Amino acid sequence: MNLHEYQAKLLFKQAGIAVPQGVVVDDLSQVLDAVNQLPSQGWVVKAQIHAGARGKAGGVKLVKTVAEAEQAAKALLGSSLATIQTAGKALPINKLLIEQTLDIQQELYLSLVVDRVEKAHRFVVSAAGGMDIEEVADTQPEKIICLDVNPLLGVMPYQAREIGFALGLTGDAFKQLGSILKRLYQLALDKDFAQVEINPLVLTADNQLIALDAKVNIDPNALYRQPGLVEWRDISQEDEREAQASQFQLNYIALDGNIGCMVNGAGLAMATMDLIQLNGGQPANFLDVGGGTTPERVSEAFKLILSSSEVKAILVNIFGGIVRCDLIAEGIIQAVKEVGLSIPVVVRLEGTNVELGREKLAQSGLSIISANDLASAARKVVEVAGESA
Ligand code: GDP
Ligand code: MG
Repeated sequence: MNLHEYQAKLLFKQAGIAVPQGVVVDDLSQVLDAVNQLPSQGWVVKAQIHAGARGKAGGVKLVKTVAEAEQAAKALLGSSLATIQTAGKALPINKLLIEQTLDIQQELYLSLVVDRVEKAHRFVVSAAGGMDIEEVADTQPEKIICLDVNPLLGVMPYQAREIGFALGLTGDAFKQLGSILKRLYQLALDKDFAQVEINPLVLTADNQLIALDAKVNIDPNALYRQPGLVEWRDISQEDEREAQASQFQLNYIALDGNIGCMVNGAGLAMATMDLIQLNGGQPANFLDVGGGTTPERVSEAFKLILSSSEVKAILVNIFGGIVRCDLIAEGIIQAVKEVGLSIPVVVRLEGTNVELGREKLAQSGLSIISANDLASAARKVVEVAGESA
């Protein structure tokens, strides 16, 4: 689950990590009051969306006067913003963060991610932070430093010194870096961050380190113990279908292809997508309907798949162990009754109550292409998707 910049900065502030002073607004009428609360002469107006690279897309505006601030707010609020990180979609801008400007000496990069191979948190830092960090990673990888934190020891003073030297920091900023690393690490543990990126972490003209940007992603598997953060979830920023799916406890991920997949079990779902690709097709989604599913959930899942106009054919692949094939059949029939069906469906059912499931589908009058095994099911669905595309 992603946090907005203003939410992440609130957590930083509570943890003692310096951030610029800022005020969140969601209406044009609040802009004047917001800038009056801030100390600087000019301000930065920042679109709050769940994506980075806003600066290059026009979502971060430096303004000098109240009139300019209002103009920027008017242009951004209620509109939407696509950046290179939004995969071709534009995300709605419902809130702005208006901040004091800072006298920036240098833009640094600092992130903390979970390194699954090392089973440890890893700091990734660079003195060449800012909006071109991806390019730096590509062309000058030596400018990026990685450092793993031993989970039993935490951030060690020598590690903070190593990073401080690498960033070329001195005096106050050098000392502040040590406390930022420690506090960020502790915050990441306390709040179950899957990753956090501060780009830029700025060095000001008076040698202070301040987190100018903040991107935080919370581990979705830990949300049950972060009720406060769950309240911050902003569904308006999420893929509509994925958000809808999560309401029905369906594991659904939208993808770019045109073959809808309904499968039970994550492993089987991945194998199914692989076989579709192997046959030259592209899956439109990952969907695991789970083991203890009900006809209602299957029906919701099927409706979800059908709601995309990109989908040209559907592959239902159920290997019923815990899940009963007849319930899956009922769910499909229920969904089709409600929303209709204009594209071919290939069904491969196997396992518990498979005869009953097949019988129900056969009696439903739906034109279903049945397949006896996964390989032929994948071949058939790619074929019919090609025909109906
Ligand atoms: P992102 O593009 O989504 O990562 O948004 P950022 O919050 O990182 O802002 C983009 C860029 O705007 C930063 O890298 C800075 O160069 C610039 N910027 C943001 N706030 C200020 C500020 O207070 N003063 C100045 N001079 N530049 C700023
Ligand atoms: Mg940034």
